[in-house]
Amino acid sequence: MKYIGAHVSAAGGVEHAPGRAHEIGATAFALFTKNQRQWRSAPLTAASIAAFRFECERLGYGAGQILPHDSYLINLGHPSEPELEKSRAAFIDEMQRAEQLGIDRLNFHPGGTLGAIPVEECLDRVAESINIALRATRGVTAVIENTAGQGSGVGHRWEHLARIVAGVDDRGRVGVCLDTCHTYTSGYDLRTPAACEETFAEFDKTVGFQYLRGLHLNDTMKSLGSHVDRHAPLGDGELGWDCFRWIMRDPRFDAMPLVLETPDESRWPAEIAALKEMM
Ligand SMILES: [Zn+2]
Ligand SMILES: [Zn+2]
Repeated sequence: MKYIGAHVSAAGGVEHAPGRAHEIGATAFALFTKNQRQWRSAPLTAASIAAFRFECERLGYGAGQILPHDSYLINLGHPSEPELEKSRAAFIDEMQRAEQLGIDRLNFHPGGTLGAIPVEECLDRVAESINIALRATRGVTAVIENTAGQGSGVGHRWEHLARIVAGVDDRGRVGVCLDTCHTYTSGYDLRTPAACEETFAEFDKTVGFQYLRGLHLNDTMKSLGSHVDRHAPLGDGELGWDCFRWIMRDPRFDAMPLVLETPDESRWPAEIAALKEMM
């Protein structure tokens, strides 16, 4: 069974997200549990938490069908100690929000060196940040997203993801989310079935499918190895439908959230319907 959805708005409260996902025919969804461009947000209220859980139950969204995304401000590999502390505190808050909502995973971008430390040191800081967050929470898996490798960001090589995972003490609560746009622009081809086979075989060898906890399904405006992160509607970019058809027919992507972050929201119902057709 494949769970397919989109990153829906939580405007007005997280409890509105499940209904918005249901409206577009989604069987999975992503959301921000706080304002993604601010450091501070009010805690989730008991009423909001109860309403979110009620809506998920009513509309049939189980924990494994929901993949919240953390704030863009957080850098778990930050080179400077005070800033790293700030990011770690914010990340623990995000993990605790997921736990309160009954969600079993949280997706995040690993962070970047800002040109101030070696990549390996940055990756080790990310791993230690995950260890700290896992000790402060229960039942929530930290899900590292691969990146396009823009600027000084890490996480755009399978080896980067593997090194972070290796540095986490509780391997049962660390996972990976692969974004098809980021995978391609970071240099791994996905344009043909043969390219998909090879790219995911390399992923499996270096990181391992047992750590995969979700996918972001995006086409890309930018080219292979460009290291630029610009999503396109499915079929409108360099990947084309073959990539998504291949994914929909592979059982290794069953039972996890497969989430659109494509730019034109009005096309989400059609994109979701097309993906369901391909299963
Ligand atoms: Zn993504
Ligand atoms: Zn992206």
